[in-house]
Amino acid sequence: MSVDLAPPLPQTVSSNALLKRILNETRLEPVENTFDVLNPADGSIVAQLPDLGAAETELAVEYARQAQPDWASRTAKERGEILRRWHDLILSNERELGEILTLEQGKPLAEARREITFNAGYIDWFAEEAKRAYGDVIPTSASNRRQVVLKQPIGIVGAITPWNFPSGMITRKAAPALAAGCVIILKPSDETPLSALALECLARDAGFPEGVFQAIPSKDPAPVANVLTSHPLVRKVSFTGSTRVGKLLMRQSADTMKRLSLELGGNAPFIVFEDADIDAAVAGAMVAKFRNAGQTCICANRILLHTAIQDEFLSKFVAAADAMNVTDGFDSSCAMGPMINSAAKNKVAALVGDALAKGAKRATSRLPDSDGTFFPPTILTGVSGDMDISHTEIFGPVAPVFTFDTDAEAIALANDTPYGLASYFWTRDYSRAWRVSEQLEAGMIGLNDVAISGDSTPFGGIKESGVGREGSRYGLDDYLEIKYVAMGGI
Ligand code: NAD
Repeated sequence: MSVDLAPPLPQTVSSNALLKRILNETRLEPVENTFDVLNPADGSIVAQLPDLGAAETELAVEYARQAQPDWASRTAKERGEILRRWHDLILSNERELGEILTLEQGKPLAEARREITFNAGYIDWFAEEAKRAYGDVIPTSASNRRQVVLKQPIGIVGAITPWNFPSGMITRKAAPALAAGCVIILKPSDETPLSALALECLARDAGFPEGVFQAIPSKDPAPVANVLTSHPLVRKVSFTGSTRVGKLLMRQSADTMKRLSLELGGNAPFIVFEDADIDAAVAGAMVAKFRNAGQTCICANRILLHTAIQDEFLSKFVAAADAMNVTDGFDSSCAMGPMINSAAKNKVAALVGDALAKGAKRATSRLPDSDGTFFPPTILTGVSGDMDISHTEIFGPVAPVFTFDTDAEAIALANDTPYGLASYFWTRDYSRAWRVSEQLEAGMIGLNDVAISGDSTPFGGIKESGVGREGSRYGLDDYLEIKYVAMGGI
C-alpha cells in the first residue's frame, strides 16, 4: 500500500529516510479510511495512515496462524540471531527512530533516543534468555514412570500498547514473545503508530518471516481489540495502558480463557524520610515526576515529606522545577515537551483547579497557557484527601505534596490507593529500608533510586496495576506454557 503524506515532512525530520520509507511501503492492501497522526507540539498533521479494523485483524490472525509452527520449531539460537539483527538495526537507526518518536509523541529528542537504545536492550537480553527456557525432570513417584516438564511458546499473542513510550512498550512485549517462539500482532496507540510501523519495517529487514510480527494501525481501538480478545487462535493478550481499559480487555478475554499480561496505571508515592540525602532525593523527584512531562506509569504521583525536612526539600524542588525549559522536543535546550494532546492537558488543569479551589497552594511560579498542549512543572502544597488529585493518576507534570510525622503514617498514606505499581522512598537507615520495602504495596520499589526499570529486572504491578512481569526471566515465563509429560511403561 502506498500512503500519501498530507503535508510535506516537517523540516525537523526532512532527512529521515526511515520515516519516508514507512510512509511509502507497507505490506497491507489499500483501505478506504485513513486517520491523521498529529505532532503534539503544534497540532500539525504529520502523516495519514490506513485505519485498519476487524477484517484486517482477522487476516493478520490467519497470517500469524500460518507463521506460528515454523517460528516455534526453530531453535532459540536461530530465533535469537534474527532478534539480534533487529536489535542491531534499531541501534543503527536510533537517530531516525528517535526523531519519529519525538515527532508523534513530543518528548525531548535526547529522551526519545534514550528510549530507543534502552528498550532495544530488551531484544538483546531476551535473544539470550530464550536459550535458558529450561524445563524440569521431576523425581518420579512410580518406578516405571518418568516425569518431565516442558516449556513451550503460548502461540499467537495480541499486544496493545500506549502512546507514552511508543517504542519501548513494544519491544518489551515483542522481545520475550518472539524469543519464546510466539508470533505477535500489535495494535499500537492511534496517537503514536509511526514508531510501531518503523519497528515493524526494521523487523522485516532483520529477517523475521512473514506473519511473525505484524502491526495494525487503527484510529478506533475497539474493533481490532475485539478480535484480539475473542479470537480462539489468539492465545494471549498483552496490554499496557490504563486500568480502565485493562479491566475491559480482561473481561473480553474471559470467554476464550486467554493468558493475560496487564501493565496498568499507577499512583506511586515518593516518600522522603527525615534522614534522607535531600539533594539526591530532589534529583530523584525531578526525574520520577517530570520525565516525559509526567506521563509515565511509574511517575511519582504523590510526594510525601517528613515535616522535619519539608522546607529544605521543597525549596530545592521548586527551584529545580521552575528552572525546567518547557518547549518543543526538537529544541536542543528542551527539558520537557508538550503533553500528548489538549484533552490530557485539560484533565491535568482540572485536577489543579479542583485542588486550588479546595485550599491547595501553587508553590511553583509558572501558569499554563490557556491554549496549546504545554503544561509547566507545577508543585502543589497543602493537598488533602478530599481533593481529586490525591487519589487520581495525574499523568502530567504536577506534584501534590503531603506531609507526615511517623513511619506508620507515611506507609498508610502510601498504600491508600487501589494501585500498586511503583513506590519510592529515601532513607539512610538500614533497618527502615527493610521494613518499608516490605510494607509498601507495590510491584517495584525504588530505595534511594528512581531507575527501577531494566531488561534483566521484573517490571510490573500488584493490586489494580496489573498482572505479569516484563523484563527478566519472569518476563519470558509470561510467554511460555508449562506442559507436564508423564512417561509410563519404563
Ligand atoms: P489507554 O488505556 O487509553 O490506551 C492504551 C491502549 O489501549 C491504546 O493502544 C488504545 O488505543 C487502546 N484502547 C483504548 N481504549 C480501548 C478500548 N475500549 N478497547 C480496546 N483498546 C483500547 O492508555 P493510554 O492513555 O494510551 O496510556 C496511559 C495509561 O497507560 C496510564 O494509565 C499509564 O499508567 C498506563 N501505562 C502503564 C504502563 C505499565 O507498564 N504499567 C506503562 C505505560 C503506561
